[in-house]
Amino acid sequence: MQVVSRFAPSPSGYLHLGHALAALFAERAARAVGGRFLLRIEDIDAARCRAEYDAALQEDLRWLGVAWDEPVLRQSTRLEAYEHALAALRERALVYPCFCTRADIRAEVARSPSAPHGPDGALYPGTCRTLTEAERTERIQSGAPFAWRIDVARAVASIGHPLYWRDAAAGEMRSAPETLGDVVLARKEVGTSYHLAVTVDDAFQGVTLVTRGTDLFHATHMHRLLQELLGLPVPRYHHHGLVTDEEGIRLSTRDGATALRTLRQKGWTPQDVRRRIGLAEGAA
Ligand code: GLU
Repeated sequence: MQVVSRFAPSPSGYLHLGHALAALFAERAARAVGGRFLLRIEDIDAARCRAEYDAALQEDLRWLGVAWDEPVLRQSTRLEAYEHALAALRERALVYPCFCTRADIRAEVARSPSAPHGPDGALYPGTCRTLTEAERTERIQSGAPFAWRIDVARAVASIGHPLYWRDAAAGEMRSAPETLGDVVLARKEVGTSYHLAVTVDDAFQGVTLVTRGTDLFHATHMHRLLQELLGLPVPRYHHHGLVTDEEGIRLSTRDGATALRTLRQKGWTPQDVRRRIGLAEGAA
C-alpha cells in the first residue's frame, strides 16, 4: 500500500522552525518509500486564519524546498463533511450540547478539587451532560450559544472493545480517549473542531501515515475513537520530537524569532534550517 503523509498547518501566523520540522519530517516519511505527500490548510477558525498567512506558508515551504502533491485541501471547503460526521454522532446521542462558558467551567472545576485532569489541564466537568432533553431544547430555542461535546464514556461503551493504534516511536498504544474527557467537537461559530476535522480529512485524503509533533500525541486517543465511531480507516502514526532551544525548552509558536521568514531575512539558508532542526539533507 502506498504511503500517504501530510503536513497540516493553520494559517494563523507565519511558519516557524517547529513547522519546518513537521513539514520536512512528513515529506521525508512519504518520499523515502515512494509515497505521496499532501498539504492541508487547517483554516476552520475564520477569526484566527488569514489569506496572507496561507500564501506566506506556501512561499516559506517552497523556499525550504518542500514539494507537495496537488491538490491542496482547505478545511474551509469541507464544512459539509464535518456537518455530516457530527450529524451521525448526534443521531446516536454520542454528543450533547454544552452551554458552559469558560468561566462556568473554571468555577465548576474550582468547586470540585478532585475534578479529573488530563494532559492539557482540567477536563470538562460534565455539567451539561446530565441536562434533560427538555432543558436542552429550551436553552437552544432561547438562542443560548452552545458547543457539541462528545460523551466519551457513552461513546467508548457503544464500541464495547478496546481500540489500538500504532505509533512508529511509541509502539502499539491502547486508545484512552477518556484521558481527554468530553472534548468539543463543534462550536456554533466553527461547525467543527480540530479533532473532528482532522479525523474526517485524514480519511478523506487517504492519509495512511499521520506524522506530527509529540505535543499532539494525546489527541490521537480521541482521533482513534472518532475513526471507530465514524467507520473510518486507521492510519499509522509517527509522533516526532519538537524543536527545542539550547536549554531543551520547546520553542514557542509566539516567539517570532523562529519564524522562517525572519531567519531568511537574517541570511539563513534552507540548509541552515534543516541543520538546526536535525533534518539536514542526507541525514537519516
Ligand atoms: N493543524 C495542526 C497544527 O497546526 C496540526 C494537525 C495535525 O497534524 O494533526 O498544530
